Amino acid sequence: MNRVYNFSAGPSVLPVSVLEKAQKELVCYGDAGMSVMEMSHRSSAYQAIIDECEALLREILSIPENYKVLFLQGGASSQFAMVPLNLFGKSGKADYVLTGLWSKKAAKEAGRYGDVKVVASSEDKIFNYIPKVNKEDFRPDVDYVHITHNNTIYGTRFSTIPDVGGATLVTDMSSSILSQKIDVSEFGIIYAGAQKNMGPAGLTVAIVREDLIGNAMDICPTMFDYKTHSENGSMFNTPPTYAIYICGLVCKWIIENGGIDAMEKTNIEKAAILYDYLDSSNMFSPTVMAKEDRSLMNVPFVTGNDELNAKFIKEATAAGFVNLKGHRSVGGMRASIYNAMPVEGVKALVDFMKKFETEN
Ligand code: PMP
Repeated sequence: MNRVYNFSAGPSVLPVSVLEKAQKELVCYGDAGMSVMEMSHRSSAYQAIIDECEALLREILSIPENYKVLFLQGGASSQFAMVPLNLFGKSGKADYVLTGLWSKKAAKEAGRYGDVKVVASSEDKIFNYIPKVNKEDFRPDVDYVHITHNNTIYGTRFSTIPDVGGATLVTDMSSSILSQKIDVSEFGIIYAGAQKNMGPAGLTVAIVREDLIGNAMDICPTMFDYKTHSENGSMFNTPPTYAIYICGLVCKWIIENGGIDAMEKTNIEKAAILYDYLDSSNMFSPTVMAKEDRSLMNVPFVTGNDELNAKFIKEATAAGFVNLKGHRSVGGMRASIYNAMPVEGVKALVDFMKKFETEN
């Protein structure tokens, strides 16, 4: 069977060359005589793999030295609790900007441990825009402000990072990490599940400024304390060894393909190809109308007719364009076009959509 164009929101498409390299090394990695999956995480062979993965992530994102890179588990969803449990050491207050289901979940979880205020929300319009915020909107004594950088379900992103008036800014970058240049020093914590732009599910990466480590709440479980993982090189317990290895291969692929600048350039190009068509089509329309708020990674669109949506998804699937069904809260379709989706995949999808529009 041939590979399809996979527009899944996550777990999602990986570079073919990464999969082929993993296949080649699956049974015997280097001269280890075993698979990476079979290695002790305490072996020197494995230490070299995790060290390289960290070094590559640092290189791609220009992560400053005063930030730790932690390889964790439990998904981005565990970070919804880990962030407040680690940061509610001073005032126990945090401000959240709600731009989708994931930020709502994050805020709700944080509310279990402290005083959470929603300072802005775009829920009034099914999260199809990014609310404007000013530094005056945030309480002066919060322990942190939380934003979701890219909204996987609704297809919006913060194209500029809000001014939070010097507060510690925490961001969920699950669906945008490694897709565009960012200035890590603008954030106290960046966290992301790996299963979109970094590798397979099972790995969660947290990039944490050092001064935010070591002040966890007393009730914080050992496994949820950033200090536990930072002091133990992400090996307090067994880390997701194979997912970290694949993440390293993905990072190498990014660097071989021009690094973060090239990823961003291609991602802008891909989103423009799709949006240019959606903006001009008489059948399909994008759900995010505010151009500056449009995600580079997730593009939701609709026809306005459920039967037509279903027919489109069915025919697209048969033609090799899969996982285009939108999230149930938006309906319609969504094309997730992460780093590993080639420009040709997006062009082919648009050609297919044009043909469908003509025929229907
Ligand atoms: N945040 C965002 C922005 C997401 O897209 C997702 C998953 N799609 C999550 C959090 C939850 O991630 P996980 O499944 O890794 O817990």
